[in-house]
Amino acid sequence: MKVILLGPPGAGKGTIAKALMQIDGSVQISTGDILRHAIADKTDLGIQIEAAMAAGNLVTDDLIMSIMEQRLLADDCKHGYLLDGFPRTIPQAEALKNLLTKLGEKLDCVLELDVPRDVIFDRLTTRRTCTNCGEIYNVKSKPPTVDGICDVCGHEIVQRDDETEEAIENRLEVYNEQTAPLADFYRKEGLLVSVASSDLDPVLAAIREHMDR
Ligand code: AMP
Repeated sequence: MKVILLGPPGAGKGTIAKALMQIDGSVQISTGDILRHAIADKTDLGIQIEAAMAAGNLVTDDLIMSIMEQRLLADDCKHGYLLDGFPRTIPQAEALKNLLTKLGEKLDCVLELDVPRDVIFDRLTTRRTCTNCGEIYNVKSKPPTVDGICDVCGHEIVQRDDETEEAIENRLEVYNEQTAPLADFYRKEGLLVSVASSDLDPVLAAIREHMDR
C-alpha cells in the first residue's frame, strides 16, 4: 500500500503505521524520526533544525522535500510505504504529487485519524520515548517495567523536548493552521479516508471499503 497518514501529533499515526507494516510489508517513513536521528547524530541538518523542532515548529518545505525525494527512491519503498508526518503543508503535498507523477506512482489513500483534542493533549503529555530505539511508553497506560528504562533495549526513556505542554499547544496550533487543510486537498483528489478513531479495526475496515470502491 502507498498511504499517507494524516492527523494531529498524538493521533496514533505511528502506531497504526507499525500495525499496517506487519500486515502488508509496506515501510513506515516518519519524517519526525528521520529529523530526530539527525539531531541525535549532530549532523549539519540536525544542528540546523534542533531549535525549531524543540519549539514544535515545522522545518522548511525545501528541507523536507530534499529528504523525501531521496527516501522514496530507496529499494524498501518498492513494496509500498506509509508516510507518517509527511506531507504537512500544502506546498509539500503539491511537491509530493509532482514527485509521484515523475516516479509513475499513485497513492492508494490518505488516512485521516480524527481524534479529539483533549485525548491528544493527555496522550502527548504522558508519552515517553526511548532515546535509543524510539519505543513509545505512556506513564498512565503503558509504563516501562523499570521506571525510566526501555523494556526493549535497556536505554533511558525521556519526555521529548517537543512534548512539554507549551510545545504541544504550539504543535496543535501549527497542525490546525498548516496541516489540517490537507484533508480538503486530498478529499478533492478522491483519496481521503477519515476515521474518528485510532484503533486498528475501524481503520482497516475504512481502508478496505475505500480500496474496494
Ligand atoms: P512528528 O514526530 O511527526 O510529530 O514530528 C516532530 C517534528 O518534526 C515536528 O513538530 C516538526 O518540527 C518536524 N517535522 C516532521 N515532519 C515534518 C514535515 N513533513 N514538515 C515539517 N516539519 C516536520
